Amino acid sequence: MEIKIIQAPPQKMKTKPADESNLGFGKIFTDHMFTMTYKEGQGWHNAVIEPYRQLQLDPTAMCLHYAQEIFEGLKAYRGKDGAIFLFRPTENFKRMNASADRLCMPNFDENAVLDALKKLVLLDRDWIPSGAGTSLYIRPTMIATEAALGVHPANEYLFFIVLCAVGAYYPQGFAPTKIYVSEEHVRAAAGGTGHTKAGGNYAASLYAMRIATNMGYTQVLWLDAKENKYVEEVGTSNIFFLIGDELITPPLAGTILPGVTRNSVIKLASHLGMKVVERALSIDEVIEAAHKGTLKEAFASGTAAIVSPVGQIYFRKKEYLINNGKTGPVAEKLYNEILQIQYGLKEDPFNWRVKISD
Ligand SMILES: *Cc1c(COP(=O)(O)O)cnc(C)c1O
Repeated sequence: MEIKIIQAPPQKMKTKPADESNLGFGKIFTDHMFTMTYKEGQGWHNAVIEPYRQLQLDPTAMCLHYAQEIFEGLKAYRGKDGAIFLFRPTENFKRMNASADRLCMPNFDENAVLDALKKLVLLDRDWIPSGAGTSLYIRPTMIATEAALGVHPANEYLFFIVLCAVGAYYPQGFAPTKIYVSEEHVRAAAGGTGHTKAGGNYAASLYAMRIATNMGYTQVLWLDAKENKYVEEVGTSNIFFLIGDELITPPLAGTILPGVTRNSVIKLASHLGMKVVERALSIDEVIEAAHKGTLKEAFASGTAAIVSPVGQIYFRKKEYLINNGKTGPVAEKLYNEILQIQYGLKEDPFNWRVKISD
């Protein structure tokens, strides 16, 4: 795939944020983006790195009506000596193609797109912040652009990648979350799209999330759609419970997202000698463990935070404290290990890091 590069003229380059302690998340976009176009019969074409711009879409572009839209999320990290790393990027592009399959969208060449991503990140490298815990968030997206009403797989698509500078997730140290167990709403049912990063999943999750936040909780803990019994995910992260000496996480059975961080936590925890189990875990078992004192820790995993400790669970009008509402040693250890691998501060036993520049 040939990638055309159109540099933004100096007068169109944006001012980079001066204060790296206040970047937040998802607000500060860089100077360039990658786009490519798909048309049935023609395949992917017009691959170009170009100045960041608005999109032009027909009002009937099918993504706007029938939600044929998928995305990914990964990061570029600046190491101590200025080197730039990606973390397991191929996993994200594989997962995106799996999402594409489920939504009847076209596959793309994972290596070619990774190559485009590297070029894009290098072109906008001055946007990668260097403060501890900061990074460049990468958002690959695919949308159906065919202008037509009527539900059918579109015959035209746009793929794009935008980048944004993001701040440290824990600028003041870990902040354990309070999570709300939803028994009234579900995120994904077996046979649905729960295992894909499809935009529609997130629209459907907002209602329960609003209930949780209105009650003072940070996130929703989703239960399975069939029996309303087994824990699945927390917000847009995977979930782990440390019960006794077992680190337990729900299996990949089609209703949860196969998180790259989830997989990294499983591999790393096993490597560190912990007992990791992927199995169905009921909320009753979690609550019983809380009563018995064997529920040692709980944490969510995802690209944004790496590991996000859970300090409290709300279930059936009762609150359960976990590790006295504090971050536990296992969550902290896994967080530090993964972070150090991502930033090139530690050896990388699994070859997860992809160095794109010295
Ligand atoms: C993105 C996401 C995750 C976490 O995946 P990572 O690859 O670890 O970032 C988990 N659950 C949902 C629903 C997600 O959208």
